[in-house]
Amino acid sequence: MTLRGRLTAAFLAVVLGPVLLGAFFAGSMMSAVDRSRSTERLGLAAAAVRTSMDALCQQLRAAADAVALVTDPAARPRAADQVVGRGLAAAVLITDTAGRASYRTPGGPAAPWQDCAGAAPSAGPVRALAARVQLRDAAGTDLGAVAAAQPVDPAFVARLAAVTGVAVTLLDDSAGTDRVSHTTETPAVREAVLAAARRANGNGVTETSDGRYVRRLGPSPGQPLPLVLSVPGERSPGGYAALVGAVALAAALAVLAAWRLARVTTRPLVELAGAVDRVTHGDLAARVPVRSRDEIGRLADAFNRMTRETGSYVAALTSSRDQLRGHLAVLGDTLASTHDLQRILRVILRSAIATTGARAGAVLLLDGDGVLVGRCVEGLDGRWPTADPSDRPPDRSGSATDGSGVDGFAGDGSGVDGSAGDRADPATLRVPFGIGVIGTVAATGVPQRGWWEPADTPTGEPTCQTYIAVPFAAPGAVELGGRGGPDRPGHPPSDLEPSSEALGVLALYDRLGADGFDDDDLVTLRTFAGHAAVAVENVRVHEEAQRLSLTDPLTGLWNYRYLRESIRREVERANRFGRMLSVLALDLDRFKDVNDTWGHAAGDAVLVEFARRVRGEIREVDLAFRQGGEEFVVLLPETDARGATIVAERLGAVVRGQPVPVHGHAGEPIRVPVTVSIGIAVYPDHAATGQQVLDAADAALYAAKAAGRDGYRLAPAPDPAPAREIPVVVAAVSPPDGLPRAGPADSAGAGRGGASSGPHPPRQSRGR
Ligand code: GH3
Ligand code: MG
Ligand code: MG
Repeated sequence: MTLRGRLTAAFLAVVLGPVLLGAFFAGSMMSAVDRSRSTERLGLAAAAVRTSMDALCQQLRAAADAVALVTDPAARPRAADQVVGRGLAAAVLITDTAGRASYRTPGGPAAPWQDCAGAAPSAGPVRALAARVQLRDAAGTDLGAVAAAQPVDPAFVARLAAVTGVAVTLLDDSAGTDRVSHTTETPAVREAVLAAARRANGNGVTETSDGRYVRRLGPSPGQPLPLVLSVPGERSPGGYAALVGAVALAAALAVLAAWRLARVTTRPLVELAGAVDRVTHGDLAARVPVRSRDEIGRLADAFNRMTRETGSYVAALTSSRDQLRGHLAVLGDTLASTHDLQRILRVILRSAIATTGARAGAVLLLDGDGVLVGRCVEGLDGRWPTADPSDRPPDRSGSATDGSGVDGFAGDGSGVDGSAGDRADPATLRVPFGIGVIGTVAATGVPQRGWWEPADTPTGEPTCQTYIAVPFAAPGAVELGGRGGPDRPGHPPSDLEPSSEALGVLALYDRLGADGFDDDDLVTLRTFAGHAAVAVENVRVHEEAQRLSLTDPLTGLWNYRYLRESIRREVERANRFGRMLSVLALDLDRFKDVNDTWGHAAGDAVLVEFARRVRGEIREVDLAFRQGGEEFVVLLPETDARGATIVAERLGAVVRGQPVPVHGHAGEPIRVPVTVSIGIAVYPDHAATGQQVLDAADAALYAAKAAGRDGYRLAPAPDPAPAREIPVVVAAVSPPDGLPRAGPADSAGAGRGGASSGPHPPRQSRGR
C-alpha cells in the first residue's frame, strides 16, 4: 500500500468515524423520542376511551333508571320509547323475572349486548353495549330488569377514533380468536397492526414493521370492549433517509478531502523520492520544487542544496582529476626525457602545488655544508628573509666552473631558476640542517604540517600561514648536493659513500581555502617527494656515469677525453674574460726503465703516486689529466708564464724530492727515484687555440727532454723573428701573495731570445 493510500485511509478513519457515530446516535435518539411520544399518545387515547365508555355507560344506566322508575308496567314501554326518542339509548329491553322480554324497542341492535358491568363477553361478536337496572315494586319485590343499549357498530368505533385521535380496532374475541369486528385502520396496515397486537401483552406498546405503535385495551371492568389502538410513528419517513443521505454526503466529502489531503501531503514526498531515484542513477541535475517552508519544504531545500553541492564537488573532483592526469603526464614525460634536475624539480613542485591546492612551495636540497638550499621555488616571490651576504658560505660558483661536468647539480642553482614571476634567486633560501621546520624535517626524516602567524615564521623560512614539509631521502643511495661531486673542486670525486640521509625537503605553503594541510595532502606530498628523490638519484647516477667516463681509473685524474673538452672550454673562458691559461705537459723520465727493472705493477704504483703528488701541488681551480701512458697535462686557469714556471718548478721538486716506495718483483720494498720533464705553453701568448697550446706545450716538453730531462721549458714565442732561447729564472719564487698572475711577460720574457722556434729548441740544462 502506498503512502498516499495509507494517509487516505487514516484521514477517512479520522473523519468518517465521528460522522458515523453521530449518525447512529441521532438515529437512535430519533426512534427513542418517537417511541416515547407515541406511547404517550396511546396512553392518552386509552384514557379517553375509558372516559367515553364510562360516560356512555352512565348515560345508558340513567336511561334504564328512567324506565325502571315508572311504576305502572303498562306505561313502561311508552317511557322506553321516550328514552329512545330522546336519544339517551338506541334501544330498551324490559324483561320479567323469568328473563322473558316484555318489551323491546323495535329495530334495536341484535343480541348479544355487552354489559357495561364488565361481565365476560357473551358468545359472538359484540353488537351493543348495555346498562341493566333491576325492576322492583314498592315493596322491593323483584319484577324483572330494564336494559338500555347503544349499538357497537362501525360508527361507534369511528366515533371512538375521532374522540381519541388514534386508529381504533374492535376485536371479536368471543371465540378467543382475535378477529376484527370493526376497525378504522386502513387495510394496508391492518394485518401488521393485528400481528403487533397479538405480540403485545398487558398494556405494553409494540411497534409494527412499518413504524406504527400498537397498544391493546380491555376488556376490563369499566371497559368491556376488546380494543386495539394504533398510531403512526411521528418521525418523518424522510428523516432516516436524510440522515443516511447526510452521512453518505459526509462520507463522500471525507473521501474527497482525504484523497486530496493525502495527495497534497504526499506530492512533495513523491517528487523527492523521484529526484532521489534520479540522483542514485547519476543524474545530479535533479531538483525538487520547494512549495512551502514546512518540514518537507526544508527537506526539499536541503536535498536541492545537497545535490547542487555534490554536483559541484563532482565537477571539482573531475577537473582536479583531469588536472592531475595532465600533471602526471607532464611529470612522466619530464622524468623520462631529461636529466635536467632543475626542470624535473620544478615540474614536481608545480604538480604537488596543483594537486594539494597550495599557493606556494619550494624544493630544498642539502648541500655539502649542512645547509638546505632552495633549488626551486614557486609562488613565494622571495617571501623569505634574505640572509646577509656576508653570512653566506663562500660562493661555490667557482666549482661550477671547475669543469666537474656536473653543472646544475652541485652548483648553487643560480641562473637556472626558470619559474616565471619568481625573481628572487631560490638559492638565497637557506635553512641550516636541523633548524626550524625545514631543517628539523630534513634532520629527523619526519614530515611536519601546521599553521603559524606569519610573524612566528622560523628564521630563514618563507612567511606563510599554513605549511607542510616532507623530507626525501634515497635509502642506501649516496649523498648528494655538494657532497656528490668531486671531494675537492678541480679533482675527480672520490668514491661516493652510502648514506640514507635526507637529500632534501619538499615544502608547500598556504593551502587555498581556510583549511590547513591535512593527512591526505601528506600522503600526496610523500608521493611527490618520492618522485623528487628518484629524480635526484637518477640525475646523480647519470652524472656519476658521466664522471666515470671522464676519469682515468688508475690515477683518478681526468682522462684525455675530458682534457679535450676542458681545454676548449678554458680557452674560451680565458678568451672571453681576457685572461691567460697556462698548459703544462708532463712526461716521466726514462719510465720504460722502471717497468723493465721493477715490473709493470711497480710502474703503475709510481704513476698513482705521481698523480697524487701533482694533485697536492695545484690549486682547486687547476685541472690535472692523464693524457695516456706516463704523460700528463695540467691546466692552470688565469695563470701566466711566470706562474706556470713556478708550478712546474714545484712539481719537478716534489717528484724528484722523494723516491717513490714500491714493491719489487718479490714484493720487497724498494724506492724508485723518479723525475719528470715539463713543457709549458701559455694561451694566448703561444697559441690561438686549445689544440695549438697543447701542441706548443708538447713541443716545450720535447725541448725539456732534449735538454737533459728533470726540468721544464717554456714554449717559444710564436713570433718567428726573435729566435732566442727563453731564459728561465732557475730559482723563481712565488709572488708575495703566492698566486700566479696573468700579465705581460716580465723578466721571463726578457730572455726569450734563446728559445728556438723550431720543434726542437736548444736544450737548456738546468743542471742537477
Ligand atoms: P723518456 O720519456 O725520458 O724519453 O723515456 P721513457 O722511457 O719514458 O720513454 P717512453 O716515453 O717512450 O716510454 C714510455 C713507457 O711508459 C713505455 C711503457 O712501458 C710505459 N708505460 C706506458 N703506459 C704505462 C702504464 O700504464 N703503466 C706502466 N707501468 N707503464 C706504462
Ligand atoms: Mg712518454
Ligand atoms: Mg717518458
